[in-house]
Amino acid sequence: MIVMKATATDEDIRSVADRIESVGARADVSHGAEITVIGAIGDRDHDLRVADLGLENHDGVDHVMPILKPYRLAAAERRQGEPTVLEIGGRKVGGDHFALIAGPCTVESRGQTLEAARIVRNAGASLFRGGAYKPRTSPYSFQGLGQEGLRMLAEAKEQTGLPVVTELMDARDLDAVLEVADVIQLGARNMQNYTLLSEVGRSGRPVLIKRGLSSTLEELLMAAEYVLKEGNEHVMLCERGIRTFETAYRFTLDLMAVPVLKELTHLPVIVDPSHAAGRRDLVEPMSLAAAAAGADGIIVEVHPEPEEAICDGPQALVGEHFPAYAERVQAAAALAGKKLSVGAST
Ligand code: PEP
Ligand code: MN
Repeated sequence: MIVMKATATDEDIRSVADRIESVGARADVSHGAEITVIGAIGDRDHDLRVADLGLENHDGVDHVMPILKPYRLAAAERRQGEPTVLEIGGRKVGGDHFALIAGPCTVESRGQTLEAARIVRNAGASLFRGGAYKPRTSPYSFQGLGQEGLRMLAEAKEQTGLPVVTELMDARDLDAVLEVADVIQLGARNMQNYTLLSEVGRSGRPVLIKRGLSSTLEELLMAAEYVLKEGNEHVMLCERGIRTFETAYRFTLDLMAVPVLKELTHLPVIVDPSHAAGRRDLVEPMSLAAAAAGADGIIVEVHPEPEEAICDGPQALVGEHFPAYAERVQAAAALAGKKLSVGAST
C-alpha cells in the first residue's frame, strides 16, 4: 500500500501507478479527500518486486506500508494455523509435545559430559545439550574443546540414547558438527549471520535458532526464513532473554514472545531461562512460567558440580536437583496441554 503525500500531483500518482504496473502488479488508486492511496495488487512475487522498486523514494510518496508479512515460509498462515511438529531421534517437538533439553553449557571433559548426560537422561530429559564451540564475550575465555568435545558428545549420545544439541559458530566446522549434532544450535550472536543460516539450511539438519540479544521477533522470524528458504523445514526458535535497561539480572526474559510467536508462526518455540537469568535461583521460576505459557520446550543448563564449571557455573542447575526440577517443569507443561517428549513411544 503506497500512501501519497497531500502535495502529490496527478503526475506523481500516475508515475507511481505506472511503476507498479511495470512489474506485473495492478495499481488500485483511491482518491481520498486529502490524500491518495495506491494499492499494489498481485501475488507474493509481485509483492516482492513492488518492494524492490524503492517507491518510498519516489516523488510524491509519503510512505509505503507492507500488508503481507515479510516472512512467508515461517508465517502461521502457511500451514493454516497447524503447528509444525519436529521429530528428532524419536522425540517430537511442537504441537502437544514438550521437549526438555538439558546439559552443561560446555563440554569440559569426558567425565563431566558423560555424567551430565546420565543425570539428565535419568530425569527424563528429551535431548542433551552441550557446546564444543563456545561464543565467548572475551577472546581470553575458554573457547570450547572443538572436535575433541564433539567426540565426547558422540559418546554421551551412544551411552544415553539422547539426541544431541550443539552449537555451530563457523561454517568450516559444519561437517564435523554434522557427525554428532541431531540439532544444530545457532547462537544469539549468530542469529543474523545470514551465510551461516543458509549453510545450515542446506544441510537439512534440525536447527535451533536463538533470538539475538537485541533482535525483534520479526528479525528472529526472518532468520528462520533463511533456513526454511533452503528447503530445511526443521526449525525451532528460542527466546533466551534480550537487552533492556534493567540491570538487576543479566537479560530480560521476554515470555510474551511465547504466545506472540505462536500466533505468528507454525514453528516450535523453546525458552532458555539459563542465559536470560545468569543465576540459578531464577531458572526454575522462569522455566515454570515458560512451560505454563505454552512453550514447546525448555533448554536449560545443568552441571554435575556447578562450582567446578569452566563456563556459566552460577546459572547451571545442580545435577542432583535436576530430577525434581524436571518433574515440576513437566507439571507446568501439562497446564498448557503438553506432554514431555521422552522417546519413540511418546
Ligand atoms: C549457549 O546456549 O550456550 C549460549 C551461548 O547461548 P546464547 O547464544 O543464547 O548466548
Ligand atoms: Mn552457557
